[in-house]
Amino acid sequence: MIRQFSTLLPTGLLVILASTTPQADEREKVVEPKSGWRQHEMNRPRPPEVRPESTTVAIPPPRDAIILFDGNELGAWQTPEGRPAAWKVENGVLEVSPGAGPIQTRQSFGDIQLHVEWASPAPPVGKGQDRGNSGIFLMGRFELQVLDSYNARTYADGQAGAIYGQYPPLFNASRPPGEWQIYEIAFRHPRFDAKGNLEEPARITVIHNGILIQNNEEPWGQTNWLEAAPYEPGITQGPIQLQDHGHPVRFRNIWLRKLPTRSAPVASELRRPEIITLPDKYLASLEGEYQQGHGPSASKLTISREEGHLLVRLPFRPRPVRALPISRMVFVLPYTDAELTFQSSKEGVIDGVRMRVGDGDRTLRKIQ
Ligand code: MG
Repeated sequence: MIRQFSTLLPTGLLVILASTTPQADEREKVVEPKSGWRQHEMNRPRPPEVRPESTTVAIPPPRDAIILFDGNELGAWQTPEGRPAAWKVENGVLEVSPGAGPIQTRQSFGDIQLHVEWASPAPPVGKGQDRGNSGIFLMGRFELQVLDSYNARTYADGQAGAIYGQYPPLFNASRPPGEWQIYEIAFRHPRFDAKGNLEEPARITVIHNGILIQNNEEPWGQTNWLEAAPYEPGITQGPIQLQDHGHPVRFRNIWLRKLPTRSAPVASELRRPEIITLPDKYLASLEGEYQQGHGPSASKLTISREEGHLLVRLPFRPRPVRALPISRMVFVLPYTDAELTFQSSKEGVIDGVRMRVGDGDRTLRKIQ
């Protein structure tokens, strides 16, 4: 994995790596940028700076959060090879131990809300990518850049808050080196079909020190140094990895919440009542205006008919909605858990309707 070692290598070695001709099948795995910009394009505009409020306090995790680092120990972390994580922990703070390599969570995660607090080395050392560089790899594959970008210039897609090599942050919300900064991250894992074809790319949203800097962006491949790598078919979970880029970047208060998947209806929940056909003459007897209450707060609806069903006009809705018959007195809305139940007098004349939408219902009298 070149990304973990790139800046640890002497420049000469990097040249050798770059000049090595890769295998043809390896080249085919490269994903082209979708932004129109070459990766790390120095001409790509850098985002405007915003100065977030200067006070940062550690935000306590919600009670149901999975605590990844609470200031005491690294039990939730290990090396990519599965050895105990060996970064420095002191005074409640986790610090990159340069040369120790990356650390990652023992657990794998998919959709998450992730909270990370970090601080660049102070006083600052180096420039560009060689200044307080670390990173948070979501699912172990998508790097959210950690860098000292306070009054410091580098390529836009590599500064603090960038989805590395792909999306610069919308704003530079960096705080000075030494000050604590907060990333609030929402991550949605990629979706694949049963054959492993990508259906939906991953999505990343980031708030940096209270400023939205990544707005539901979709990486076009796994972030990587120089070229993005393709999505790995069917992989929907991975560890959170913190990058060792050779700089003593500090972290504290790292926690996440796993996000549930929205449920789809099962077959029994998709069962719908059978729609019947009613004579047009009967439907005509349901037409008219219905009202509950009086004055400006009165509820009103107007019912007309159209090709075997009813049209219901409601205030505050620009278009009427269809109501389909499942019996002589009960009509349902096709896309809403809603029904109209008509009421009649002793003489059998339609004189009202009860309209239920979800858990709300009201009964309206026929006035016309
Ligand atoms: Mg980095």
